[in-house]
Amino acid sequence: MPEGHTIHRNAEDLNEAFAGQALAVTSPQGRFADSAARINHTAFVQAQAVGKHLLMEFANDAIVHVHLGLYGAWNINPLVKKAAPPVGQVRLRLLGEQTVADLRGPTQCELVTSLDVALLLNRLGPDPLRVDADEKRAWNVISKSSSPICVLLMRQDIVSGVGNVYRAEVLFRLGIDPLTAGRDVDRKVWLKIWRDLVTLMRIGVDIGQIDTVRSKHLPERTGRAPRVDRHGGEVYVYRRESQPCLVCSTPILKREVAARNLFWCPTCQK
Ligand SMILES: [Zn+2]
Repeated sequence: MPEGHTIHRNAEDLNEAFAGQALAVTSPQGRFADSAARINHTAFVQAQAVGKHLLMEFANDAIVHVHLGLYGAWNINPLVKKAAPPVGQVRLRLLGEQTVADLRGPTQCELVTSLDVALLLNRLGPDPLRVDADEKRAWNVISKSSSPICVLLMRQDIVSGVGNVYRAEVLFRLGIDPLTAGRDVDRKVWLKIWRDLVTLMRIGVDIGQIDTVRSKHLPERTGRAPRVDRHGGEVYVYRRESQPCLVCSTPILKREVAARNLFWCPTCQK
């Protein structure tokens, strides 16, 4: 599933392409056709991301809420003379002066009101990529919880936008045993987790992939082979089970926790 950095990058790309323009809005596949007709030829005001949710605000208080889920994706391309016919199941097409954006396969694509947005924001935890995020809201829950920190970091009502890769990597980078109960995490350690998420996820927005490996552990410094994985990016533990830890050479472990695969180094994370 795309993590928050992907959605923030989508929002930045959509703003750059469309802000202030009246867009041709269609649903070539048909499933969003009635809603598309309601916002067709109205001005695109702005897009913003909150965790894994994208909110696109149009004139007249119309807001499109998108959640990509597991399979959703945007294709945002420059317009060459006229837009190519849509390929595949395009739920939503936005056509501007110089750009065409196609949305395929989202879990949610719906027209909502500002009240719906307020309710959504209320049930989401702070998003490390937002300047208005208040980490104390997350800390208030984490510091009282007997659940493992690795599970708490995945709960969107506690911290929004973090997925399986960032949670595994941030816990490795800080040498934290992922099964440590939330209430046993020191306030100072939590602040380090939060700040590292802010840093790593911002890099993810800027370069469009998750890179978490410090320069001293990169292939060009250590001579090891670069990582090969469809997620791209250099990481310490995510999907590296049985491979040697990049720091201590202990084989990386994997186990299922709360229905998701957890990856960690048993030596570095004690
Ligand atoms: Zn290690």
